[in-house]
Amino acid sequence: MDTKEREDFTNVIKKELEALREQLPSLEKRMEPVSPDASIGRLSRLDNMVNQGVVEKQLSNTRVRILKLEEALRRVQEDEDFGLCAECGDPIPLKRLLAMPEAELCVECAS
Ligand SMILES: [Zn+2]
Repeated sequence: MDTKEREDFTNVIKKELEALREQLPSLEKRMEPVSPDASIGRLSRLDNMVNQGVVEKQLSNTRVRILKLEEALRRVQEDEDFGLCAECGDPIPLKRLLAMPEAELCVECAS
């Protein structure tokens, strides 16, 4: 990865991190339980539980993605071999790295 590629990668990752971090508070807020006194019917209570399951999944996906992006950001700055396949040493395409920042193998070696 040359300097320009590192810079591009860093910028894209930083932007995505920023967007994800902005989503966190609203997701967390939607996870708050509805008070048992709230006058919603049995069905909406069920609805609410289902929704919370969805939000919980989304929240944990978002957190995992943030951790992976932070790790990639650290590696692109510290690790000279970042972006090279751990198996064959070929450069991993930038597109793959952006979709899977934790990728350590090129498509061929991973398959
Ligand atoms: Zn490879």
